Amino acid sequence: MRLFSIISISIFLLSISTLTAQDIKRCKTPEVNNYILENNPDARKSTNKLEEFTQNFTENYVKSDQVYIIPIVFHILHDNGPENISKEQVLDAVRIINEDFRKQNSDTNLIIDEFKSIASDTYIEFRLAKVDPWGNCTDGITRYETDATYEANDYAKQVAQAWPRDMYLNVWVVHDIPGAAGYSYYPGSVDGGWGENVDGVILCYNYLGSISPSSGNKARTLTHEIGHYLNLMHPWGNSNEPGLQSNCDIDDNVSDTPNTIGSESCVLSQSTCGSLDNVQNYMDYSYCSRMFSLGQGERMQATLNSSTSGRNNLSTTSNLIATGTIDGFENLCPPIAEFMVDNYKGCEGFDVSFTNRTYGTNLDSCSYYWEFEGGTPSTSSDENPVVNYPTPGNYDVNLTVSNSSGTDILTKQTFIHSVDTLLGGIPPYTESFENSSFPVNLTDDTQSWENIEDGEAHWERTEVVSAEGNACLRIANYLNEEETLNVLVSPNLNISDIDSNLVLTFKVAYARKDVYSKDILQMRASPDCGHYWSIRYYKQGSSSLITAQNDPVSGTFIPTEDDWREETVDLGYYLNKSYIMLKFMVTSRGGNYLYMDDIRLNGEPLSTLIEKTIGENLLVYQNPFDDDTRIELYSESGGNADLEITDINGRRIAISPINIKSGSNYYKLSSFAQNLRPGIYFIRVTSDNINEMQKIIKL
Ligand SMILES: [Zn+2]
Repeated sequence: MRLFSIISISIFLLSISTLTAQDIKRCKTPEVNNYILENNPDARKSTNKLEEFTQNFTENYVKSDQVYIIPIVFHILHDNGPENISKEQVLDAVRIINEDFRKQNSDTNLIIDEFKSIASDTYIEFRLAKVDPWGNCTDGITRYETDATYEANDYAKQVAQAWPRDMYLNVWVVHDIPGAAGYSYYPGSVDGGWGENVDGVILCYNYLGSISPSSGNKARTLTHEIGHYLNLMHPWGNSNEPGLQSNCDIDDNVSDTPNTIGSESCVLSQSTCGSLDNVQNYMDYSYCSRMFSLGQGERMQATLNSSTSGRNNLSTTSNLIATGTIDGFENLCPPIAEFMVDNYKGCEGFDVSFTNRTYGTNLDSCSYYWEFEGGTPSTSSDENPVVNYPTPGNYDVNLTVSNSSGTDILTKQTFIHSVDTLLGGIPPYTESFENSSFPVNLTDDTQSWENIEDGEAHWERTEVVSAEGNACLRIANYLNEEETLNVLVSPNLNISDIDSNLVLTFKVAYARKDVYSKDILQMRASPDCGHYWSIRYYKQGSSSLITAQNDPVSGTFIPTEDDWREETVDLGYYLNKSYIMLKFMVTSRGGNYLYMDDIRLNGEPLSTLIEKTIGENLLVYQNPFDDDTRIELYSESGGNADLEITDINGRRIAISPINIKSGSNYYKLSSFAQNLRPGIYFIRVTSDNINEMQKIIKL
């Protein structure tokens, strides 16, 4: 028994440490480069040639004071979310790589004595481009509005095309990369013509620099990836996995970095291959990295002297002139106006925070003039004004930005929606899509729905079939790229007179196209005219969404009477609210048509018992839970908090720090705890200003 409990305790500790490590994502440079080296003999040849050149260069290395200046450009791919990062964040990232590569980082004093003498000033420096490849003024940042920012890979580099890699280091900043914080290519891997389109660094927006939405412990990700770009491997060689004992047999071809199996924590006394590990090396995974070694510095300089992938042109005087990065070069580009809002839709009288996202120039040089139709104030010269919209209506916003080089005007038409809270629908409310002008209601605009379209296929009205009346809505999922999201938003529904049993029903019909289809239908509700939405219904095509008797259907799915199913959603949580807005969201993932009809919101009694899982700001969908269960957390202020899972006896199962942004936050329950035994558990989120708990059940 004693042995048993020791084992179970150590398994418990192991699972906790994996949890915290999961929070930080890795680099997948070895993975992408190994794939090329295995499949492209030319890449292998170039790699060997560069290695030979490098060994020769480092053997005959003569230290000089030459500084290698590398012009750098950041391509920001965004979908108007937090990944459309500020210029300050980019400048912060450039500051950090310059400090790290020149050994000017303030934490060099924390390098342990054993490695202090080989910590390197690499004499490599980075400067934001001031002239683009076409000779135009630039501030070294480009921005692209594109879905390619999600689950990004090299396709993102086709959307935001690389600038010539022998002139610039290209850095792509994206929302997320499957399984990684970033990756880059070794110069040998991409030496051919095709490599011109992908060469550089790609990384997640929340791993760039040290300021929010990134953070201090992720700030060295770009340093690490540029190390790869300049031909450095991880100190445990080019293996995919740190921590394997076999890594001791793989070298990184740098003479002064001790062999190691790799580190994911900061045990500075760690010795894994017979000598003290350089845990603080930027190329390790420890996240307490502070240094490059002298050998690594020489190896990177060798790369910058080699013609492989054009690296030796980067810091030539002619290139520094061409890119505007030569000492003393000054220019001021005209601004490109852009802005974001915290929310474009709300109840009449709501506030909108406008955030200036003007780019292309030095923002200190700019002046701003905003015009807010329907807003109070109606004009502003603040950079980031807050505006109230007291009267219902749809309003334009104008932003004029000027500096001494030019002026840009951006108009977003009917951009702000101030919703009438007295008009709109009143339960019992029905919508069965009989009106041919749907989503527009020609006689009463407050009864109109909003159809937010994306991709090839959208929610569309059809008379091919219906569950009620002559028409219904449908969407052809298979015509859309995976993850395309189409959203249908109801008018505001005034529920102030309903005091019991607020229930939504709607009819749905769905078939998969094949067994791999897994489209998602969600229904969310908002008690504040679309500011804050909570998930109230969530079904996946791979299981619970299917209604067709003969699923899957490879041809066109047209439901028979038996293929329709009525869904019931308890909205009792909103009984004390004055109004509610509904939205139906379809995420296309290769399936057949999804049909919807006969939406009803009324006060009828609940016909089926629904497990209630409702709290003020912490929602769990679905409960009882499984691997797909999601947690939604709403916070006004955001901040850092702890998410803790305990069992029914109060024993802690898992705890993990989470970074909460203002607004809705979504997490997968399985990323905090997996393989829980059947039983009752509690999720609690706590911080200075959050204290939320939910009971969850595993069957
Ligand atoms: Zn790496």
